Amino acid sequence: MAKKILTEHINVPGIETFDVYRQHGGYAAVEKALKTMTPDEVVEEAKKSGVRGRGGAGFPMGMKWGFLAKPEGIPRYLVCNADESEPGTFKDHHLMRSIPHLLIEGMIVSSFALGAHKSFIYVRGELLYVVRILEQAIAEATAKGFLGKNILGTGYDLELVVQPGGGAYICGEETALLESLEGKRGNPRNKPPFPAVKGLYQSPTVVNNVESIANMPWIINNGGDAYAAIGIGRSTGTKLISASGHIRKPGVYEIELGVSVDEFLNSDEYCGGVRDGHYLKALVAGGSSVPILPAHLITKTANGEDRLMSYESLSDGGFATGTMLGSGGFIVFDETACIVRNTWNFARFYHHESCGQCSPCREGTGWMEKVLHRIEHGHGSMHDIDLLVDISKKIEGNTICPLGDAAAWPVASAIRHFRDEFVWHITNPQEASRPGAVYMGDLA
Ligand code: NAD
Ligand code: SF4
Repeated sequence: MAKKILTEHINVPGIETFDVYRQHGGYAAVEKALKTMTPDEVVEEAKKSGVRGRGGAGFPMGMKWGFLAKPEGIPRYLVCNADESEPGTFKDHHLMRSIPHLLIEGMIVSSFALGAHKSFIYVRGELLYVVRILEQAIAEATAKGFLGKNILGTGYDLELVVQPGGGAYICGEETALLESLEGKRGNPRNKPPFPAVKGLYQSPTVVNNVESIANMPWIINNGGDAYAAIGIGRSTGTKLISASGHIRKPGVYEIELGVSVDEFLNSDEYCGGVRDGHYLKALVAGGSSVPILPAHLITKTANGEDRLMSYESLSDGGFATGTMLGSGGFIVFDETACIVRNTWNFARFYHHESCGQCSPCREGTGWMEKVLHRIEHGHGSMHDIDLLVDISKKIEGNTICPLGDAAAWPVASAIRHFRDEFVWHITNPQEASRPGAVYMGDLA
């Protein structure tokens, strides 16, 4: 059985309440950190753990904390990014609604480490019931002396605010989130300056994902070195994976980083394999923003090695052959899935969610959607395939925020790996546009 850092107690009846959470060791990390450690010592444990940002980028959390500017007399903020909206990703939602005190405890320890006295949890706008759950948990923790003024008599004060999000995917981009939190439209800012220097209200701010922060209680209780001993190489610790699509057991799983993709996909402990009577066609390993992998590259890398669930192994060879661990949104497609239709669906999503600030993203996502629509509906030409590649290249790297890249990569990788399927749609327009029609390749 794999090590469980976040989900060990998640199925205990009543774990959403303060008392049951406390009976299972909850808030011990707050006592340890605030009573026996300095803020710098807490930061040091985060650095030692090697834990990387679990929202998708995988940036080392301790290093990000180390970048926080500390000018005299200026407040610092910790903002938890709980605006989980990446298609195929629902792990933070699961954590917050099931064991909310884990996040609250992580927020207290992390805020203490950063010297923040007012911290925010920005929750995806559609999840209002989760806002209520977190507010209830905060009220309980405050009543027990773990939040508010002079926490546990240590002299440390912390106010925790839960903010419902603006209801747009782009508000999960950290600088758009900060704009939204300030009461403005959620438009991403140019970086640098990074939030660690100029963030919320122009003050130094750390923005961390829910899962990243929820790791902190375990790291404080057991030490950063113990966390770093779990996992593989620079992919330390465990990771929550949201598994969906054509598998026997969809759900949220906590894996030790380094387990093989084959084991995660096929063992009964996790996904249980592709649904009965079908076979694997493609995989999106890290949410809709990452390149898609065809069946022959899913369990083996381009070099023929076992592909592992880790930041490094999933991205072997970078964009050319690999994908990314990203947010851990593991979407499995069997042979009944149409790659062109799916790519069009993703493109439609990004076009809809583009904030419109930069032309390559605003115009390019719209063009990609239109071109994919006509290929899928039997009106495409061979030139359209090159046109899609060209548009994706023009978007990639030329936008303010990563939404542009996220829109371009799935399209370019789908064409790279499934060109035959695009060609089939163009050369067999009547058959391809028939509802439910799927390219069967060699099986046709
Ligand atoms: P990024 O690589 O630009 O930044 C990662 C983090 O490191 C940021 O917090 C950034 O401020 C910080 N950082 C990087 N360099 C720094 C420096 N020199 N000084 C100080 N801080 C620095 O990535 P990003 O834009 O934060 O995130 C993109 C990722 O988000 C994508 O990989 C995608 O998978 C993911 N994503 C997730 C969801 C979701 O719902 N979980 C939604 C959309 C996108
Ligand atoms: Fe807005 Fe797209 Fe530019 Fe991001 S890349 S700032 S979403 S227009």
